[in-house]
Amino acid sequence: MDRLGHVKAVHRRLEEVFGRPRKETAGDPLDGLILTMLSQNTNDRNRDRAFARLKERFPTWEAALKAGPQALEEAIRVGGLARIKSRRIWALLDQLRHTQGRISLQHLRGLPSEEAEQRLLAIPGVGKKTARCVLLFHLGRDAFPADTHILRVTRRLGWIPEQATADRAHEILQGLIPPPCMFSLHLNLIHLGRTLCRPKASRCPSCPVQPWCQHGGGTLTFPKDEDREEIL
Ligand code: SF4
Repeated sequence: MDRLGHVKAVHRRLEEVFGRPRKETAGDPLDGLILTMLSQNTNDRNRDRAFARLKERFPTWEAALKAGPQALEEAIRVGGLARIKSRRIWALLDQLRHTQGRISLQHLRGLPSEEAEQRLLAIPGVGKKTARCVLLFHLGRDAFPADTHILRVTRRLGWIPEQATADRAHEILQGLIPPPCMFSLHLNLIHLGRTLCRPKASRCPSCPVQPWCQHGGGTLTFPKDEDREEIL
C-alpha cells in the first residue's frame, strides 16, 4: 500500500464507522473568521454562544467597530479569553475598514486559494488552522485545517513526523490528502481524536483504524520513505 492508498483506506474506514459529513459551505467569510477566532481554547457550545451574543448585541460589524473593544469583550465573555479575543476581533474590523474601505472579506471569493490564504495569514492572530477553516468551511475551497486532535491522530498514524511543527504539518497534510476527502476527513479525524484517540489512554482496541496505525500496533502502516529527508 502506498501513502495515498493508506490515507484513502483510513478515510473510507472512518466514513463507514462515523458517517460521511455533508459538505456545507456556510455563510459569510468574515462571520466564519470571527467564529473561528472565538473557538480558541473553548468548546463549540461556548464558541457558538459567544458568537450569538456578539451578533445579538451588534447588528452589523460596523456597529461592533464603533462600540469598541471593551463592549466586544463584555459580549463574548462566555467564550473565555474574552480580553484577547475581543482585541483581536476589534483590530480585524478596524484593519478591514481602513484597508478595504468596508468591513467584509467577500473580496477573498475572487482570489485563488493560495492568495486568499496569504491574505488571511496577514491578519494578526490568524494562523494556518484558522485560515484553512475559513477556506474550507466558508469559502468552499480544498483546504485541510489541522487542530490539536488532528495533529495528534495523524502523528500516531505516521502521516506527519513526530517533531513536525504545526505549520509544517499543515503543508504535509495539504499535499497528502486528496481534495475530495478533505472535508470529511477533517471532521472524522477530530471525532476520532475526541472520542478514542485521546492524548492519554487512547482506546486502540476499539479504534476503527487500528489496523492502519503504527502507534496502535497495526500492520498496514503508513509507508516510510527512506530516501526522503523530512524537513521539519
Ligand atoms: S489505533 Fe490508537 S493511536 Fe491509532 S488512531 Fe486509533 S486510537 Fe489513535
